[in-house]
Amino acid sequence: PIVVTGATGQLGRLTVEALLQRGIPAADIIATGRDTTRIKDLADRGITVRRADFADTDGLAEAFAGADRLLLISASVPVGERVANHRRVIDAAVVAGVSLVAYTSTTHADTATTVIGATHRETEEYLRDRGTPSVLLRNGWYLENYTSQLPQILRNGAVVGAAGDGRISAASRADYAEAAAVVLSAEGHAGAVYELGGDESFTLAELAAAISAATGEQIAYTDLPVTDFAQVLATAGLPAELAEVLADADRGMNRGEMHTDSGNLHHLIGRPPMTLTEALTAALHH
Ligand code: NDP
Repeated sequence: PIVVTGATGQLGRLTVEALLQRGIPAADIIATGRDTTRIKDLADRGITVRRADFADTDGLAEAFAGADRLLLISASVPVGERVANHRRVIDAAVVAGVSLVAYTSTTHADTATTVIGATHRETEEYLRDRGTPSVLLRNGWYLENYTSQLPQILRNGAVVGAAGDGRISAASRADYAEAAAVVLSAEGHAGAVYELGGDESFTLAELAAAISAATGEQIAYTDLPVTDFAQVLATAGLPAELAEVLADADRGMNRGEMHTDSGNLHHLIGRPPMTLTEALTAALHH
């Protein structure tokens, strides 16, 4: 069976759906998360649902028992706790004897200078040190990070960020999920490092222009110094640490750390990934 961690979340659920779409029988999928009440519907469809908390080593061993492959979706806990969480998952996967661990990393995790990048790099290094056959899904930014902000952007008449003219290769969660399902369900991906993102990158000024074009509203891009952007995010209600981490991610974007022209996502899913314009149109007509 294939274990999916984070199946109670957005990317994990989409990955389970993509595995089913690819013909993996429900009986061969183990969907895990902490709040399994959110995936009761998956159990009703014949998928094995097990509780797995990355903080609980014994629980992880039970949740992964009998698994052949595992998708480790990076945790959404505070950044300082992420690597320890990921290590416990990797250790449990080794104990369970899985033959492949796929890990959702970030673009250019080996060289990224961001706080988020460092957590992914350390996890990648741990995977390598443990010697488990693995595949690195270095997911870029989600298009949904922007489409979910459309109401505020339209209210403010502006996209606000600190990414300068850095190019961003964003893609939809569904497309990243499909890529994950491909590597989990096919042979020949062990050892691969995939830099994943959309075919067309954009700057935040181009994002603002695309929103203007899609809505007919005049939307500008306001580029702020990183510390000012963190302040704006905190004032808007984000916890201070998250505000810092997100502003730091924009700093990385400015350095090109969220850009890739590898074409790996397109190649894995066998079609062009959803574009920014398609995502905006879908979100506006939802
Ligand atoms: P979600 O917040 O929707 O889902 C996160 C999932 O991870 C949930 O199923 C959650 O389980 C699970 N999880 C988190 N911490 C733990 C833990 N300690 N133990 C067990 N399970 C845990 O995020 P997405 O699906 O949208 O994104 C997946 C991951 O990608 C995020 O967790 C984050 O690391 C990263 N990310 C990437 C972004 C990008 O643009 N590329 C943007 C934002 C995040 P439960 O809810 O049941 O506790």
